[in-house]
Amino acid sequence: MTAEILNGREIAKDYRAGLAEEVEKLKSKGITPNLTVVIAGNDGASLSYVRSKNKAAEKIGMTSDIVHLDEDASEEDVLNEVKRLNNDDAVHGILVQVPLPDQVDENKVLEAISPEKDVDGFSPVNIGRLYTGQRTFVPCTPLGIMELLKHTGSLEGKEVAVIGRSHIVGQPVAKLLIDQNATVTVMHSRTKDMVEKLKNFDVVVSAVGKPGLVKGSDLKEGAIVIDVGNTMVDDKLVGDVDYDSAAEVASHITPVPGGVGPLTITMVLNNTLLAAKWNKGIE
Ligand code: NAP
Repeated sequence: MTAEILNGREIAKDYRAGLAEEVEKLKSKGITPNLTVVIAGNDGASLSYVRSKNKAAEKIGMTSDIVHLDEDASEEDVLNEVKRLNNDDAVHGILVQVPLPDQVDENKVLEAISPEKDVDGFSPVNIGRLYTGQRTFVPCTPLGIMELLKHTGSLEGKEVAVIGRSHIVGQPVAKLLIDQNATVTVMHSRTKDMVEKLKNFDVVVSAVGKPGLVKGSDLKEGAIVIDVGNTMVDDKLVGDVDYDSAAEVASHITPVPGGVGPLTITMVLNNTLLAAKWNKGIE
């Protein structure tokens, strides 16, 4: 079997075209969705990620700002910026780029973002809303993974392995998969005989950051493979999955780059649009 490629760039492009239309409609009502990203320090990868979110927002007609604080910004400095943005009616979505400098407590900052503007969905209130089935901002990478999986058919009754149990990817995507009536097993660094077990799964979502973790010989014939991993190797971005061998066995597979990544940014835009709508009582 040669896998069908789940082309994240193409899927994201179509999705963003739909978002751009929605933005136009809102603008005609006098509402221009705004995404503001807060970053502290000068980490090159973080800066380039922030700029790409900024550009993507502007490309679909939103406005987008970057609040760039120094590497030595104090926790109070960051919290004051977040409070200022919480109170600014022109700002609909707030993202704080992590990691923050060591002197800043990330949890305190995430808790300070107004839940109604927390478009990453990382604040405790929004995490609680997600797990209790309430309206919320679903974290962007898990939402992007679900969008990719929509292109593979129904998940009902499927056996899914999620490798990785972080709060930003593994755990929320497991919750979203359960909501789609899949049967989900979450694996992590202490899982015994993980590789042998993988053959039992119809879908494998790998969110670890270890190149070569999953090989074609580990997979069930016809499995759907979503590779979330992002690791720089010799200046090249690679996933967790050995793409060539996995593509021989899988029915569908995401490439790295060009798979999950473009959908993550798209879902930041999606959530910002929702924030602007919900702010005005539009469903
Ligand atoms: P994380 O917080 O470091 O979590 C990694 C998870 O992998 C942990 O749960 C860890 O288990 C598990 N793990 C480590 N070694 C393992 C092994 N040998 N076998 C099985 N599980 C193992 O990372 P994250 O933030 O979730 O991100 C995961 C990857 O996705 C990274 O490469 C990141 O760059 C990438 N990512 C990509 C996007 C995108 O848009 N494409 C977005 C977010 C993240 P323990 O809990 O037991 O330690």
